[in-house]
Amino acid sequence: MEYKILSLKAREVLDSRGIPTVEVEIKTKSGISRAMVPSGASTGIHEALELRDGGKRFLGKGVQGAVDNINKYISKEIIGLDCSNQRDIDEKVINLDGTENKSKLGANAILGVSMAVCRASALEEGIPLYERIGQLSENKKFILPAPMMVLIEGGKHADNSTDLQEFMIMPMPKVLKNFREALRCGTEIFYSLGKILKSKGYSINVGFEGAYGPNLKSNNEPCELFINAIEDAGYNLGKEVFITLDPAASEVYESGKYNLKKEGKILDSGGMVEFYENMVQKFPISSIEDGLAEDDWSGWQLLNKRLGDKIQIVGDDLTVTNIKRLQKAIELKAINAILIKLNQIGTVSETMDVVNLAKKNKIAQIISHRSGETEDTFIADMVVGLGCGQSKFGGPDRGERTAKYNQLLRIEEGLGDKAIYSTS
Ligand code: PEP
Ligand code: MG
Repeated sequence: MEYKILSLKAREVLDSRGIPTVEVEIKTKSGISRAMVPSGASTGIHEALELRDGGKRFLGKGVQGAVDNINKYISKEIIGLDCSNQRDIDEKVINLDGTENKSKLGANAILGVSMAVCRASALEEGIPLYERIGQLSENKKFILPAPMMVLIEGGKHADNSTDLQEFMIMPMPKVLKNFREALRCGTEIFYSLGKILKSKGYSINVGFEGAYGPNLKSNNEPCELFINAIEDAGYNLGKEVFITLDPAASEVYESGKYNLKKEGKILDSGGMVEFYENMVQKFPISSIEDGLAEDDWSGWQLLNKRLGDKIQIVGDDLTVTNIKRLQKAIELKAINAILIKLNQIGTVSETMDVVNLAKKNKIAQIISHRSGETEDTFIADMVVGLGCGQSKFGGPDRGERTAKYNQLLRIEEGLGDKAIYSTS
């Protein structure tokens, strides 16, 4: 069967921060398929380029240029093609762009088209999106993820909070029996943390990703507060629930050193590794993402050597969902896990290639949102369809984050007895 793309158009819409982003709409025989593109705040320098207009409109953040690139150039190449040929279409648009980092047409333009094509093919096939993604990546094991849920955020995501960007909790699959229970666990801990913060006179306003962003005294304080919150909610820290971190260390890297303002410390790579070793000794931490800066390869090697047999060492800005950088990280033994973000690379096919290379090399994969999100739930289907086992979709509030969690609840219900809950 051929599933023809009858029309393709794009428009400028707003993301969860009020910043413009690209929405793409594809018409096929069975109806309309839409996709919206996420956007980061603490972006890695090696990511594919997000095309922004500059100038006065939206303080330079408009994406009308990327939208025009779709409507004027990409659409001409794509209309009339069979949307089930995901890889061919992705390659065609990559070639049309012709640059290494998708800077001509914009990775935001290219990704919007790629996601919409994927959704259109699911619609035409009459199957759920996760199943279509499973087909494309030759994965038949649909796995509901263990959710890393951010409860305190700082860095570039919340003013005046911690140096480290994200303090998360991860309900453990071995104890909690399904995704629904894991989500309830994380949400109940979010409530008790809110009560504790309030009782200590801290703000409970939330940052970009729906986590609290209080003005805390140190980078250890969130972990101390988590211990109380987890206990108050009736869960067992270090058994049912672990703590995970995303320091986003590139953001505090200045002239070859790490500037931790809350600690009043400027550390070299070795000092940072010791700082994390101390934290891991004190608290049940099971994962650290971007513990070091995006090009501090020797620091990463040291971190993975010291802690990689105990916890996850996750590349995000280091690896930017890029197959060459993942390959390098594998060769240098710099990581044992990778964060996966569609817009870091810019197509569905390339993202799947990175996941498959990681799987082959026993590198754990975590499908992630961006700080700028939309109501699009593509990544919820993606984490199940690729069978990655771990998600990072934000706090259990703010509509653009709960949209993903709620989609996972629907998928789990739809799979019924066939639903596998993560064993990561
Ligand atoms: C992250 O760093 O993992 C993250 C989700 O933030 P951003 O989207 O701002 O890069
Ligand atoms: Mg990160």
